[in-house]
Amino acid sequence: MRRSKAFIPTSKEAPSDASLASHIFLARAGFISQSAAGLYNYMPLAKRVIKKIEAIVNEEMTKVGAQEVELSFVTPAELWQKSGRIEKFGKELLRFHDRKDNMFVLGPTHEEMMVELIRNRVTSYKNLPLNLYQIKTKFRDEARPRFGLMRGREFIMKDGYSFHSSQEDLDREFDLMEAAYKRILSRLGLDYRVVEADSGAIGGSGSKELMVIADSGEDTIAVCSSCEYGANIEAAISGEKKVIPDAPQAEFNKFQTPDIKSIDDLAAFFKIDPYYTVKCVAKKLIYETESEVVLFFLRGCDNLQEVKAVNAADALEIEDVSEEELKALGLVPGFIGILDQDKAKHVIDLNLKDAKHMVCGANELDYHYVGADLSVISDVAYFADISEVNAGDSCPHCDGELSFTKGIEVGHIFKLGTTYSKALKAEYLDENGKAQPFMMGTYGMGISRLVASVIEQHHDENGCIWTKATAPYMVNIMVSNIKDEAQMAAGEKLYKELQDQNVEVMLDDRKERFGFKMKDAELIGFPYTVIIGKELVNGNVQVYERTTTEKTAVSADEIFSYVMDII
Ligand code: ATP
Ligand code: MG
Repeated sequence: MRRSKAFIPTSKEAPSDASLASHIFLARAGFISQSAAGLYNYMPLAKRVIKKIEAIVNEEMTKVGAQEVELSFVTPAELWQKSGRIEKFGKELLRFHDRKDNMFVLGPTHEEMMVELIRNRVTSYKNLPLNLYQIKTKFRDEARPRFGLMRGREFIMKDGYSFHSSQEDLDREFDLMEAAYKRILSRLGLDYRVVEADSGAIGGSGSKELMVIADSGEDTIAVCSSCEYGANIEAAISGEKKVIPDAPQAEFNKFQTPDIKSIDDLAAFFKIDPYYTVKCVAKKLIYETESEVVLFFLRGCDNLQEVKAVNAADALEIEDVSEEELKALGLVPGFIGILDQDKAKHVIDLNLKDAKHMVCGANELDYHYVGADLSVISDVAYFADISEVNAGDSCPHCDGELSFTKGIEVGHIFKLGTTYSKALKAEYLDENGKAQPFMMGTYGMGISRLVASVIEQHHDENGCIWTKATAPYMVNIMVSNIKDEAQMAAGEKLYKELQDQNVEVMLDDRKERFGFKMKDAELIGFPYTVIIGKELVNGNVQVYERTTTEKTAVSADEIFSYVMDII
């Protein structure tokens, strides 16, 4: 491509709402342009990068025997009603009616559609397993679309779905897909980690996320210092506490604790470790049609993990609740206790199961209990894992310690089980001729988010640094002075030679200053720029490498073979 003819509208100005490097540089370098909140146009450079990522995904999917399909983007709302997800997805689903007043939904993911596709078409265990995937635009009316391609409303996803006749076979496929996803990310040149994940609105058991490590990531992940364990903070668990603080010795008793409402004050008042206090976090849980206050009890040293809390309460969302609302229920904020509690539904953290020597609220203004033995409620209370891991906690699998890092979720793989096949009555006949619902797995990867992720991991203050596998053009030939006939001829010659070898090459033949063109090349992020300038009279050109920003002098006679070698 000749730069003089290319549609690459670079700019000095970043979008006013852009804070992430990928958003700023993809917009400034002329890859994307915004058409409305969360909606982006892909210009030629972005299109090239997307196609490269898609090609790698297609290759790896073909290797593991997955078959490509393409389902309609507009999906009948009826399917979403049958699966129950029309409510679960809530406002993220964009719904509309056609001229016959039938309701449709713009596909945010395609489980229902894929089940419907194979229903009554795949009818025997002999046709299983089956793995179908597509690479397709998705639409989710995200509450807060932001960060450019990172969280769009319209975005490109690779979504795959597998069907099986047994859990063992699903487990096998899940591992196969995890390996394929890892190969994709390695080939793209990304530093990533596979972590245990929460299964969210999609349901099912067992899910893992593929996280590209980046400080700008929206997800916090806990990783072990010595083993492979990693988990999204929404799902992370810690091992047994290595050092348990000394227990306070006290008979069960009610104690006056005037105005002592916080855990810190309580621990200081009794001179005990917060480990021996019971914290109550009151929240409002939102369900399909109603909401209710739920009390979450944890050890004073632990914090509530809201995603775990939502799952434990089987709710859709979680909100804060005011003191007034608590008082209206007859609760005493600051002194809400775990014993004799019948004012609101409650969930108790597993770390409190059978806990002894505890200090907890007495459900009475200015009073706490001391020496409480929680084993008395073990059989009647509802326990769940609702606490968040802390940095320094022990790993659940080894002797190592957990620490936090930030990640961008680029892929999510789930063992779905039979949730969707049962809801949509999709069955096959097993070896005994008995109808069974399909066992399913689902595998998503954010293609457009990957474009942004590459830049989050590979950029500097001057712009994009594309990895070799993702670069829109591998080589940029920059003719310093296009009026210099020798320079121009050398540029044209190399351009033709490289094109003949199918190298993706750009020839910067614009009548612009050297400095301007160089800045432009850095902003776009070509892996290599061959600079044909003044030194040509001495038989030399230069090769600028974007990752190292180093320039190497190369003899003009050898430049073609030199370039072929380095790329
Ligand atoms: P997130 O927690 O970031 O909203 P999700 O859990 O909703 O993601 P999935 O439903 O698992 O995402 O979708 C599969 C993949 O699609 C994600 O791993 C991500 O890479 C991509 N993806 C999801 N939502 C968006 C979005 N709004 N913009 C761009 N990519 C997205
Ligand atoms: Mg989401």
